[in-house]
Amino acid sequence: MPSSDDLRARLRSIDGRGYGAYKDLKGRWDGRRVSLCLDRIQGDPFAAPSKARLLVQGHGLPEDLASTRVRRAALCDALLDAFAEAVEALPRVGGSGKSGRVLVDAGGAEILERTGCALEGDVLELRFRVGLPAKGRRVLGRAASQLLCELLPRASERVRWEHVDQAAVREHVELAEDHALLQAELEARGLVAFVRDGSILPRESGVSPHPLPGAVPFESPPSLRVTLPTKHHGEVTGMGLPEGVTVITGGGFHGKTTLLEALEAGVYPHVAGDGREWVVTRSSAVKVRSEDGRSIAGVDLRPFVRDLPGGRDTAAFSTPDASGSTSLAAAILEALEVGASALLLDEDTCATNLLVADPRMRELVKKEPLTPLVAHVRALHEVHGVSTLLVTGASSEYLAVADRVLLLEDCVPREVTEEARALAGAKPAAGEPLALTPRTIQPRSIDSRRGRRERVRGRGLRELELGEERVDLGALDQLADPSQVRAIGPILLALRKHAEGATLREALEATMAEVEARGLFALDPSPDLALPRPFEVAAALNRLRSLRTG
Ligand code: ADP
Ligand code: MG
Repeated sequence: MPSSDDLRARLRSIDGRGYGAYKDLKGRWDGRRVSLCLDRIQGDPFAAPSKARLLVQGHGLPEDLASTRVRRAALCDALLDAFAEAVEALPRVGGSGKSGRVLVDAGGAEILERTGCALEGDVLELRFRVGLPAKGRRVLGRAASQLLCELLPRASERVRWEHVDQAAVREHVELAEDHALLQAELEARGLVAFVRDGSILPRESGVSPHPLPGAVPFESPPSLRVTLPTKHHGEVTGMGLPEGVTVITGGGFHGKTTLLEALEAGVYPHVAGDGREWVVTRSSAVKVRSEDGRSIAGVDLRPFVRDLPGGRDTAAFSTPDASGSTSLAAAILEALEVGASALLLDEDTCATNLLVADPRMRELVKKEPLTPLVAHVRALHEVHGVSTLLVTGASSEYLAVADRVLLLEDCVPREVTEEARALAGAKPAAGEPLALTPRTIQPRSIDSRRGRRERVRGRGLRELELGEERVDLGALDQLADPSQVRAIGPILLALRKHAEGATLREALEATMAEVEARGLFALDPSPDLALPRPFEVAAALNRLRSLRTG
């Protein structure tokens, strides 16, 4: 096996040559404590940076921190933070632009399974992208040698157990594990979500992941207070939201949306100091909203939309340009199709005519194709076992169908179910089950070809490029990280081979099981992917304009 000394010599020998000379360095270069793998070498200085790995031997990480999937993922997430910090502190070599830049994908406030770091047997792999140093289109061999053979191995020293902040790494792992255990505890107790007293829910700004300084800490209403056991942090006390229909109401600016957003984010564990470490939501809770202009492919919309003017059938409804109400109907039915056990909605982002039907308007408007959600929430809970959490300050119709009503005043919730029941009268009977029609999808309608090439690329948090398409993911509020978007593309391509003769849900489950068994990195050897939930994978698929069903 060639050594890192060999690499050093080779880099010096190609100093000043054309950039293509880097190509020959692909492969593994062994060092005493750390080896370097150059896996994919960029063709020119302006192309996507090269993919590389450092293999750290004798890292000394305690085995117990990697004993389960959840612990291992959290451990790696923490080590990536340490590696990113060490890389950040390195002296800059290689000039400007992409040259000499090292990209470590350490993520943000959520603790996610990421491809940037992995334990492979006794070896810790740190995976990253690096812009191989260039001056114009020429190799900067000395800078490359310094970066690849000295600086990066030095940065990798920081992830050895003896050098990390051991208490912080342990806490990271234990927070993630407690979050996962609490998610299981929620199911066992018939709860949908938990918010610990003292949590800080609001963010500093709409674009900031940091907690709002001086925020009002969360305080549970006594009637919903529960105490849950954790493995590492003793007992925790806060609000336990039971299954069923929950209405969150209150005047404008009293913190309704903020609470719902925290619950949306609560499907993921959060890092220490985030403020939402102890906001825990069932992993199968799905935020849905209206989305004017999205496409819909073959969804049986009849539970919500039927008898359209002109006799248009809604049993397998497709459109390139949905309205606010049809897009919300589709989002709900698509979430149910792949196993959502709770729906999260905010009236701010929902078409009113799909949420409620005003009784007086009903008198006047006889030909109404829409059945609003309010007519279904009881059956969703009692027949289908699906809970609804709705933020509304405007519509009283939900008071009658709610199992409980929370009133937010100055960001403090109070349970007002009794008062609401007195105003709204008795709860109606469950009503008819929803007729849900599972779809099958045509694998060929997922197509990554663009001209003669392949194109699968995530663009930030909001867009996925797949073949000729740019899929708008802007309405997927529970996507947490651009690295999840990057992972959705390869997952959708893997889904094709599970789609034949299967329902969409079966295909999705088989695909996610494959991802779990083989790992994301086996699907796509990129250092900057993070695992998305199946719900966001399905949601991206459902927004593919080329998607064909049946
Ligand atoms: P609503 O949906 O009820 O209109 P929001 O959730 O949008 O209200 O909150 C209104 C404002 O109050 C936002 O600027 C938000 O950051 C802030 N806010 C929300 N919760 C808290 C809190 N617990 N402490 C301090 N400010 C908060
Ligand atoms: Mg709001």
